[in-house]
Amino acid sequence: MQVFVQAFTGGFAKPDQPPDIVNRLLGVVERSQATGVAIGWNPAVDYRPLVERCHDRGVQVYLWLPVFSEYGAAARPALDYRGQPHAAAQSGADDDFSFACPSQTTNRQLVGQYYDRYFAASGFDGVMLDKIRFSSFGNGFRAGLGCFCPACAQAYADAGVDVTRLIARLDQPDKAWLTPQRRRDWGYAYADPMIDQFYRARADLIGRAVAAVAAPFRRRGLGVGLDVFAPPLAYLVGQDLASLAGQADFLKPMIYRVTDSPAGIPYETAKLKTELTAAGCPIGQRLEDLWATDDLAGQRPYEDQLAGLAGLDCAVLPGVEVNRLPICATSADYVTASLAAIERVGLAGAVLSWNVLAAVVYPS
Ligand SMILES: [Zn+2]
Repeated sequence: MQVFVQAFTGGFAKPDQPPDIVNRLLGVVERSQATGVAIGWNPAVDYRPLVERCHDRGVQVYLWLPVFSEYGAAARPALDYRGQPHAAAQSGADDDFSFACPSQTTNRQLVGQYYDRYFAASGFDGVMLDKIRFSSFGNGFRAGLGCFCPACAQAYADAGVDVTRLIARLDQPDKAWLTPQRRRDWGYAYADPMIDQFYRARADLIGRAVAAVAAPFRRRGLGVGLDVFAPPLAYLVGQDLASLAGQADFLKPMIYRVTDSPAGIPYETAKLKTELTAAGCPIGQRLEDLWATDDLAGQRPYEDQLAGLAGLDCAVLPGVEVNRLPICATSADYVTASLAAIERVGLAGAVLSWNVLAAVVYPS
């Protein structure tokens, strides 16, 4: 089983770097018998010595890079259906959880430009692309519906959505029609044909955006891994996991079951319910019902999700939280049980997430 360890060494906006990255990370690699490292994304860090030392041990090193977030004023923000920039999700994590529009060419090119400017000489084997999605309901109700800038609105219209009528309906108090009706492939079907088309168009848009973003890395001979939401939540941020699997060397579904922060199942499901309900869509336990559980973060739905992922067309390495933080109540038993379930299902491996240079627990 492949084991990647994920490490955060500061981002674009926080250029301070943790000390002694190379030796600390090599210690983690040794201790966890890692076969790979995903590390990012600080322009002030020279990653080359780490990459070389890892290569000496036969360990792959991927650069972890955000795509539609973290670029500040260099990116054009996503706009909600009233034309306002999306609010950032509030969380205790280090990341910036405001989102850029996935349609704009400028935004699609940023990650490649940053790679060329800061990281191309470091000898990475590939990139692990993160935040390839729309805002979730963690960013609020209006942001959770995605981007409505002219380019995105045109994409929805091209897919047959009457965007003017959709926006008019979103301004009505009753929005029960935003409740998914049943599961369909890696997404949901909606009883209302317009909302069904709209969600399909959003996923197709993200699929095209990922293809455009990944192509330049492929041309450089780099591997491409994709950080994606857990299966019950992915489609709601525009990620069709089957379509994305066709574009990646590996998917890293963030099936974070104890993370009370963006991408974590407890955080995202709570936000989804409160935001939708407050906006006029009392969704209740619908997602849980569609996954035949009363807790999407439970052990049995976890195993169901892993079993489904085994059918995808690329290697799947689910993220397993190893950080012990106030927003992440992990434990050695939790890590051990998660890894055992991944191995039982026969997935390619796991990513120990999300920062092994901070306080972590190891499997018992
Ligand atoms: Zn847009």
